[in-house]
Amino acid sequence: MHVSSYAMGKSEMEKSYDSIGHKPKDVSLKDLSNRLAEFAQARGWDEYHSPRNLLLALVGEVGELSEIFQWKGEVGKGLPNWSADEKEHLEDEVSDVLLYLVRLADVCGLDLGQAALTKIIKNARKYPVVVNQNPNSSYN
Ligand SMILES: [Mg+2]
Repeated sequence: MHVSSYAMGKSEMEKSYDSIGHKPKDVSLKDLSNRLAEFAQARGWDEYHSPRNLLLALVGEVGELSEIFQWKGEVGKGLPNWSADEKEHLEDEVSDVLLYLVRLADVCGLDLGQAALTKIIKNARKYPVVVNQNPNSSYN
């Protein structure tokens, strides 16, 4: 059984738009989590979405994302000189990684958004702002 893709059919994609066809301004992690839960349940995939399976799927998608950058050398911010197809491919793989991460957090019973905010606070305490600090000195 193929459970590695969250590719959406057109009718499901249309749910991303409001009643007059506008894309929503923002998408919450909770929205994504709910959509993924519905997606899995409708297809009978819940039994396959164990934490371990989702983690392995996530790692696989990170590999697919890495392949896009493999052998390109350093890539500039904003992806100058990338074609529309290359950028779409990147969007697809970045999304696969995000979606599996969101799904993994959900089946583990975590609030990913809150956990991420808490982690930023922990990081801020660990790496306090120092005026005129040499950026290379924080990794000593
Ligand atoms: Mg993929």
